[in-house]
Amino acid sequence: MAESYEFLSSILDTITDHIVVIDAKGDIQYVNRSWVMFGNNNDCAASQDWQNFNYLDVCDSAANRGDEFGSKAAKGIRKVIRRELDSYYFEYPCHSPNETRWFMMRAAPFQHAEADYFVISHQNITERKLAEEKVLALSRIDGLTQVANRRYFDEFINAEWRRCARLQQPISLAIFDVDHFKLLNDTYGHQSGDECLRKIGKLLNSSTHRPSDLCARYGGEEFALVFGNTPLAQAEKKINEIQEGIHQLGIPNQASPTAATVTASIGLATMPADARRTEVKLVALADKLLYSAKGTGRNRIVAKYCG
Ligand code: GH3
Ligand code: MG
Ligand code: MG
Repeated sequence: MAESYEFLSSILDTITDHIVVIDAKGDIQYVNRSWVMFGNNNDCAASQDWQNFNYLDVCDSAANRGDEFGSKAAKGIRKVIRRELDSYYFEYPCHSPNETRWFMMRAAPFQHAEADYFVISHQNITERKLAEEKVLALSRIDGLTQVANRRYFDEFINAEWRRCARLQQPISLAIFDVDHFKLLNDTYGHQSGDECLRKIGKLLNSSTHRPSDLCARYGGEEFALVFGNTPLAQAEKKINEIQEGIHQLGIPNQASPTAATVTASIGLATMPADARRTEVKLVALADKLLYSAKGTGRNRIVAKYCG
């Protein structure tokens, strides 16, 4: 018996997951080597004299200190103990001062000598989590200009509209369309066109600073700027500065009947966000104003507040 215990615990000590076994009261019955080592390296009191600790108490006291993951772990494990769940798992961040770390905790029951036990394992999933974050970031970025893409714009403006509606704040949206961009492509080549879009994207992006702001590539030579919690006058001031910035870029477009360097037409709309309407109204208004800027001579801003 002692031999088989040693044999099995040697196996469990080779496993990199941190494993702890508790009884139905939460008292710790067994830990593997990874669990002890992680505890030692992270100043966890229960790593050495683990026999004297109750795992649920440890989770509860973390929860009482405001740790939402401690609370989640305690609730999930108790559900498994009460047999309300067959097993429970969740992912949580556990960053150290100099390392990003993510873990997955699993709790699963087993029976031995007619008593209930529960295996709780913590698996390091940092590599997968970072890969997921990278993929998510990439899925939101326009490859050419490196600003947000249309997909993320749609997601962002929808969330920002709802956030501003809750807080009864105004939201502003500017849509930029480069004037006579086709002529620029035709005159200087597609690569020069690409370079122009990169420069304009960079300029527009540098005017967004707050978490409620977004610069996105809206279409081919169209960009959108979202400013949450921003009234018209404030947005108009920003857009005037950006228009001046575009002039100062001085990107040649000799064939353009509007000006010898690149210009843009801009529709700027502001609305009080309202839960009874959607952001689609704001987009439609900015689009309409942009159309009007095009129709009245280009290289201009047409702005409107719609209450
Ligand atoms: P307007 O002043 O009426 O906006 O005229 P415009 O020439 O800017 O508009 P139009 O819609 O006629 O042409 C837009 C051009 O933008 C056509 C398309 O080939 C070009 N374009 C779209 N995406 C890209 C891109 O990623 N790179 C380059 N170089 N050109 C692009
Ligand atoms: Mg266009
Ligand atoms: Mg255009």
